[in-house]
Amino acid sequence: MTPSIAEPTATPAAGDWSQFPPVPLWTALKRGFTRRCPRCGQGSLFKGYLTMADQCSHCGLAFEPYRSDDVPAYFTILIVGHIVVPGLLALEKTVHPEYWVQMAIWMPVTLFGTLALLPFIKGAVIGTIWRSKQDK
Ligand SMILES: [Zn+2]
Repeated sequence: MTPSIAEPTATPAAGDWSQFPPVPLWTALKRGFTRRCPRCGQGSLFKGYLTMADQCSHCGLAFEPYRSDDVPAYFTILIVGHIVVPGLLALEKTVHPEYWVQMAIWMPVTLFGTLALLPFIKGAVIGTIWRSKQDK
């Protein structure tokens, strides 16, 4: 019988940063945008629609210190606004629909666009915040 050798665990100990190479800003942003841990890219960043998980289930990174406040809402409004307003104005200039038609089109686009984009933008903001604090 061969002596057993301890297998490396799939989940590193919390706080053990040596297994993780430095993460470029763009990578941290992309990992956050996909709602994954910005450090390892494996564990989920969220436990609900917008509720942050306490820590990464893979690498143990605590997410509690990284708060995005109103920044995701700002960027979401900025992006959705840049889709809705030109679309509304272009439709008004070309087709001249009734106001209720404009509202029937652009209110749902605004509502569902915002709700669809917000969790991804929040993840990207958290990833960016996490990466910016690594340089300090
Ligand atoms: Zn992680």
